[in-house]
Amino acid sequence: MKLTELFTQPDPDFGKAMTALLEHFHHSDDSQAPYQRGSFTHQLDQSCMPTIGISPRDYLARLATLVPGASHLTSPRYMGHMTAPLPAFTAELSRLLVMLNQNPMKMESSRLLSFLEREVLAKLHRLVYRQDDAFYAAQMHAKDAALGVMTSGGTIANVTALWLARNRACGDNLFALAEQGYRGAVILGSRLMHYSFDKGMDLLGLGARSVWRLDTDEHNRLSLAALEQALQQCRKQKLKVLALVGVAGSTDFGSVDPLPELAAIARREQIHFHVDAAWGGPTLFSPRYQGLLTGIEHADTVTLDGHKQLLVPLGTGMLLCRQPDLMMTVKREAPYAIRATSFDQGRFTLEGTRPANALYLDAAFQMLGQQGYAQLIDANYDRARRMAALIDASPAFELMSAPVMNLLSYRCIPPHLQGQVPDVAANEQINLFNVALQKAQRAEGHSFVSRTQRAVSRYGEQPLTLLRAVLLNPLIEEADIHALLDDQVRLGNQIASQLFE
Ligand SMILES: *Cc1c(COP(=O)(O)O)cnc(C)c1O
Repeated sequence: MKLTELFTQPDPDFGKAMTALLEHFHHSDDSQAPYQRGSFTHQLDQSCMPTIGISPRDYLARLATLVPGASHLTSPRYMGHMTAPLPAFTAELSRLLVMLNQNPMKMESSRLLSFLEREVLAKLHRLVYRQDDAFYAAQMHAKDAALGVMTSGGTIANVTALWLARNRACGDNLFALAEQGYRGAVILGSRLMHYSFDKGMDLLGLGARSVWRLDTDEHNRLSLAALEQALQQCRKQKLKVLALVGVAGSTDFGSVDPLPELAAIARREQIHFHVDAAWGGPTLFSPRYQGLLTGIEHADTVTLDGHKQLLVPLGTGMLLCRQPDLMMTVKREAPYAIRATSFDQGRFTLEGTRPANALYLDAAFQMLGQQGYAQLIDANYDRARRMAALIDASPAFELMSAPVMNLLSYRCIPPHLQGQVPDVAANEQINLFNVALQKAQRAEGHSFVSRTQRAVSRYGEQPLTLLRAVLLNPLIEEADIHALLDDQVRLGNQIASQLFE
């Protein structure tokens, strides 16, 4: 076979085989190829490149051994992570996008798709900030303005927000803060802030200790008393507060910080106000639930993730800016490509070359519409309430937080401790039990939730192992929820008899 044929001759059988692989995958679960580290690493232990290439058709045999080992995230009984099943049209759309291979870092390598990116960002900006037609007409395609940037995900969006906030405070020169009389710089947020903020402060040269994780109230929201106290401490220690972070949909609980109050404090103190709505942002589509996010419109910057509740492929995040000139504080240029006088989005993005994933968002916006998203959100948030009620009604479970969005935290209680108020020693036993249970459920492979470790106010400071359910898949039915909980009760009984006899 001539190498050039790889570029010119699509093999129709290759495409058909791919469809068959996917079809089979979507009708199975992790029990088909149980996770065992040893067998997985043994399967993939070759460090030498092949000397001679094989045909795509011969490569199919290898693919057939790889695909079943992937995580079956699209199963409606997998409620453990924030990764969604994708609408079926995504498969063909991704073929188009990948083969167009556009690079929206610069106009010359993406042309119209650069402007599509701006249009998509404008629609989301409007969802969050609700400016008028005149604003969007003037700003959407303005040259020295950006309503936001596309990123590969929430992490890079949060890091970009810190970068903006730092440059707002002192340009790219941290020593300028010393000249202003500061002895250091910090960001303030709740203990539930995503760990991407630690990465960001580390990269800015400020270290993870500059991330102040403050106490939360009994609803897992940033405590305003703790915030005022921290601000006082910063004044006393002459620390510059680079940003106040509000979380709109915490990773563990889906809780939302008191955004209107945080906005008022940030305005009073003249601090950059960032809202991390990577998970919760799309709540704004739902007339029923959008009130949860009141106050987000005051944020200077907002992080959104497309690859979570907007149901587009991985690698799609965004940072929105209330004021379109804010991005100028991080503007960078390169003479060969990213020219100062251009429309190149690469002037503002932390990432360089990246895919034109705005097309996925455009397709989803056009085909689902605002109402479609609202329906999916409402159904998921309602399902979470239904599942919470089932958990709350059973002595075999303890619900650890009332559902705000569609994330639930709970734990299983072993039979001998059901119906009691657990003390510290009992909580330790329950922790061990839930770790073993989560692992056993994962190993069995029919259903799945993730686990985390958090203190909850009911039990003071003691770290507790919590099970975490994410109700994101639109195809989850009541029977799937029952099946998942039944698996936990059944496995729990087996584990309790091994652990506690
Ligand atoms: C998922 C998430 C992030 C990180 O986003 P990635 O896309 O995984 O980089 C940050 N903050 C919150 C609240 C999240 O839910």
